[in-house]
Parts: sequence; structure tokens; C-alpha cells
Amino acid sequence: MATGYVFHPEYLWHDTGTSAGVLPADPTAGVQPAVHIENPEAKRRTHELIHLSGLLAELLVVEPRRATMTELLRVHTPAHVQHIRAQSDLRGGGDAGDGFSPVGHGSYDIARLAAGGLLALVTAVADGDITTGYALTRPPGHHATADTGMGFCLFNNLAIAARHARTVHGLARIAIVDWDAHHGNGTQTIFYADPTVLTISLHQANCFPPDSGWTHENGTAQGAGHALNVPLPPGSGHAAYLQTMHQVVIPALDRFGPDLILLANGVDANVFDPMARQMLTTATYRQMTRLLVDAADRLCHGRLIAAHEGGYSPFYTPYCVLAVLEELTGTTTRITDPYATIVAAYTSEPLQPHQQDVIDAAADLVPRITAPATTPTP
Ligand SMILES: [Zn+2]
Repeated sequence: MATGYVFHPEYLWHDTGTSAGVLPADPTAGVQPAVHIENPEAKRRTHELIHLSGLLAELLVVEPRRATMTELLRVHTPAHVQHIRAQSDLRGGGDAGDGFSPVGHGSYDIARLAAGGLLALVTAVADGDITTGYALTRPPGHHATADTGMGFCLFNNLAIAARHARTVHGLARIAIVDWDAHHGNGTQTIFYADPTVLTISLHQANCFPPDSGWTHENGTAQGAGHALNVPLPPGSGHAAYLQTMHQVVIPALDRFGPDLILLANGVDANVFDPMARQMLTTATYRQMTRLLVDAADRLCHGRLIAAHEGGYSPFYTPYCVLAVLEELTGTTTRITDPYATIVAAYTSEPLQPHQQDVIDAAADLVPRITAPATTPTP
């Protein structure tokens, strides 16, 4: 069965302007302007590698569409949608809500096209045209909550896709696995009381947002038990992430029994990324994806859709994403990770006791997950 692929030139036109790392440029404060850390380069190079590796020819290219107001409002408040629209209308752009999330002139329509890329993949899966898919979208989405943008995210693309899968296509149980280096706080918050959407976030402890994504954040009301967090210590690498997959993520998916698995594929936990301090390599992303593909095959007819999230190393992000895509398609290309020999030693570090403690604490919560009733509710 085919793997769908979404990309669009407009994704590269989302204009984040200048900054200095994570700080807004402010010459009066001595913060020298530079190209914004969330810029098109890593994504453009990723698309180019997918093309020249030969993989693009094996993918079913799915055209994105712009998410409608109805679709946005399944997740976001009218005030937030109008705020993004108003900021986007400004000639110089504005901010999505937290002061660190630029909205370029025209970014409202581009953000709708990013969310709509996921919607197109969900529909293609529901129609049986594909079983797996990858949306190389921009801007990212997983930090955006119902009522504000955050962390470079404008709309929560995967949350909008999950609601679409349930309300339009009748898929009752959605699991969202988020291995971006930063906490998937927006997605968690949106579904915190919802037993039909299981959110699982693996991230660097207390990185971004600050004081967010602790193990005790475990869902509320009817959604109690259906938010899982694995706040891995800084410096966690291959062994810690694979152990988390085996001990937490896969058992959680088995208990929940999803009809569709969504993946927030931030690759900023890689060893070269400037925005976190984790140590993953392409080998890690490849093996984690293989485990998810196997789970999807076992649990939900192979249905697995990935959305691109973080990933700020322009030279290593492309190889991390290629590894994920090769596993989604079940093929390998002529391109091998040219950094593999340099980072090989990183994957040999054994699991550390303080990492195992965090994983054990999350694993203790897996039995709280139940498979909810199968009738979708709006
Ligand atoms: Zn991130």
C-alpha cells in the first residue's frame, strides 16, 4: 500500500523574519538580528533529499488544501483564528500569541495549508488510497493550544487532523505519539479531558515550554490516564528513547487500540540540533519508526500519518526525516546517513539509571489506559 507525501512551496514562504536564536531581534537591547531559527532551510533541504534519493518517485504525492474555518474551529477558539488572521494581514506580520511565534504577512493562509495537508492525508487514509503518510509542513503545530499560538506554532495541525478523522471519517480512537524534543503541550491540552484521543509525548525534561510535560500530567475527567509524558533527562539518546518505545509507547498503544496513529515527527532530539540537548541519530529515528509501523500494522490496518514538527539543523534534519520516510514506505534508498560513522559511538551509550527511573514512572501509568467506546462524538 502506498505512502502519501504532502509538500507545497508555500510552506517555505511562511516568513518568520529575523531573531537571535529564540529571542526576538532587538538591537536596542543588544540582540543582533539574524535569520530566525525556524526558517525554511531545513525543510527545503529535506524535500530536496527526498527527491534526489529517488524516494519521491515511490510516494503518492497528495495535494494539500486549506483547512476551512469549520475545521479550524474544531480545535481553536474563534478569537485565536481571528488573531492569526489579523496578524497575517499586517504588512510586517505579527505574533501568534506568546511573543516568540512570528506570523508573517500572509501566514494565515499558509498555516491553513499546513493544517490542510494533514487533512488531505487523513482523507486519503480513510479512503484507502494510502496506509501511511508524511506531511512536510510548515509552520509546525504541536505547541499551539486552543486559544493561542506558541513555540513557532500557529494552528495545531495534528489536533485538527485528529478531530477531522473522528468527526468526518468516523475513526473512533486516535493515538498521537510526539517525539519532538519539546513537550507536545498544545496537543495534550486540547485532548486532556478526551478519552478518545491518547497523547504520548517523549521530550527533554523541562525544556520547552518550561515546567510542562511532567509525568504526573496524566489527563483529567473522562480523559484521565489518556495523556502520557516521558520527560527524559538532557543527554538522553538512542538507548533511552528505544527503551521508552518498548516499555511505554508500544504497550500504551496496545492497550488503547487506536484506529489511527498520528506522529508528531519533530527531529530536534537529534544530536546536532541547536534547540535541545538530546543525542538521537538517524538509526534511532529509523528504529522508533519501525516499531510504530509494526504497531500500526498490528492495531489499525497500518494507518500511520506523520506531521513534520521541529528540526533546526539544516544539515542533519534531512537525513533524520529520510530515515522516517524510508520506514514508512518499507524501502531503502541509495542514500545512507553520511554522518553515521561520526555519531555511531553515541548509539552505544547504555541506558542510564536516572533515565530508567523516568521511563519506569511513565510505564507505571500505562495500565490506566482503557479502550473507550467506539462511537465518535463531535
Ligand atoms: Zn521541538
